[in-house]
Amino acid sequence: MTGIDVEPTAHDAVEPCSTEGLVYQVCRWCGTASFRKLLCPVCASSDLESEQSDGHGVVVRSSVVNRYSRVMRNESLVRFPEGFVYRCRIVGAAPHLVSVGDRVRPVGGKTSEAGEVVLELCDPPGMADWYA
Ligand SMILES: [Zn+2]
Repeated sequence: MTGIDVEPTAHDAVEPCSTEGLVYQVCRWCGTASFRKLLCPVCASSDLESEQSDGHGVVVRSSVVNRYSRVMRNESLVRFPEGFVYRCRIVGAAPHLVSVGDRVRPVGGKTSEAGEVVLELCDPPGMADWYA
């Protein structure tokens, strides 16, 4: 019994599948930004460099999946300022209330490296009605 606990606990372990913001790739040859691609979409180079984005983007196309069902959800195309567009799941509002031009950010500041990218609205609809 030393009274000093130096054993790393599971709580302190870094989650390998999560990271702050988004990691995207930039082509070393032509500088094109892409996301979750193995090859550059412009020059097909596989020489991609990982870069960090804060994950804040803007909805450029909003679509509701499974409308009229219990599992209805929003899947929107989101444009990120770094120069890539990706289909993401949008939460924080009813699926049909997500509009083109809405600003979104990673839920809890994090996204999973694998699986779907889940973003939440920065300005949930209804807040504007506050002033009315
Ligand atoms: Zn390229």
